[in-house]
Amino acid sequence: MQFNGVLKSKLPGVGTSIFAVMSQLANEHEAINLAQGFPNFMCSKDLIALVNKYMTKGFNQYAPMPGLMSLREQIAMKTEKLYSANYNPETEITITPGGTLAIYAAIEALVIPGDEVIIVEPCYDSYSPAVRLAGGVAKYARLQFPKYTIDWNEVKKLVSFKTKLIIINTPHNPTGTVLTASDMQKLEKIVDNTDIIVLSDEVYEHIIFDELEHQSVCRFPKLAEHSVVISSFGKTYHTTGWKMGYFLAPENITKEIRKAYQFMAFAANTPIQYALAEHLKREEEYLGLSAFYQEKRDYFRKLLKGSKFKLLNCNGSYFQSVGYEKISEMNDVEFAKKLTVEHKIASIPTSVFYHNNTDNKVLRLCFAKDNETLEKAAEALVNI
Ligand code: GLN
Repeated sequence: MQFNGVLKSKLPGVGTSIFAVMSQLANEHEAINLAQGFPNFMCSKDLIALVNKYMTKGFNQYAPMPGLMSLREQIAMKTEKLYSANYNPETEITITPGGTLAIYAAIEALVIPGDEVIIVEPCYDSYSPAVRLAGGVAKYARLQFPKYTIDWNEVKKLVSFKTKLIIINTPHNPTGTVLTASDMQKLEKIVDNTDIIVLSDEVYEHIIFDELEHQSVCRFPKLAEHSVVISSFGKTYHTTGWKMGYFLAPENITKEIRKAYQFMAFAANTPIQYALAEHLKREEEYLGLSAFYQEKRDYFRKLLKGSKFKLLNCNGSYFQSVGYEKISEMNDVEFAKKLTVEHKIASIPTSVFYHNNTDNKVLRLCFAKDNETLEKAAEALVNI
């Protein structure tokens, strides 16, 4: 079928998300999917039993718009314990169907047409389209290749009287780098005494390696006053398909975001919220996640040692970036396709995370896979 009227795109130049494209290509060619970020192993059976319990008990209707109070209370306790930050579950914590929707709701609610939003690239692919849909103007800073650190002077230079938001992400997707306390202090200085709000995507907060501590913006009281923190249960509990996340923000900011959010989804999945409220009490689950993934990172890096790929730093998230300069001069999108079709390994080309498709000849590989899959993938990669 075809619509014969004039259809003006709100997102000209935007195609289907790379995650959908590469997952489909991986399926078509029966390749190992290290592209889209999701675990290929089972989540906790106890968690599934809890969801089942609450469904069977009959908790199958709408949850309260901002989320189940018992889950918000658990999140408040966790945030207080880990980051010494106090968020009022009533007015400052909101459950959403996934982190991406929380990001979208925050941008839609806060950005007024003409406002500028500073985005640090490479970055998760939803930020920029969300800014455009809200009528905002993205201003791009970039992580310094190959260490992928932030030059805060560059960020500062982009600040103008029109700046509404600065979006940051730690641990970082796609590069696996993490921000330090010193990064946060520099950011705090930039936003102090301004009306700028920081949107801090911390969905990989529990996946951080080498004894590093996650530097949430909410550890820094002045910065927290300016910030919306995004988190996700999908990453923490190996349940990306459940689409459960939340955001934390000062009361008056939360109020604005909830105004938009209530008309996007109204509420998140009820039985899963009940189950998470109970499961979150077992702190060893999320506190043990870093060690679990660090072992995977170390194993995968060890397996790739004999390959021609250059392993870049990875201090958090479940993504390992690799340079392929020694293997091919192809651009990264073409190379990623060739790798999928000919070598049966699907990856994400990092250029898609830049608005101007900067190609440093780097691919992102997801190592949230069982060891057998990592071994098979590494065997193919070592032989290239
Ligand atoms: N966050 C995951 C990734 O970066 C998946 C995102 C998605 O599929 N939209 O791969």
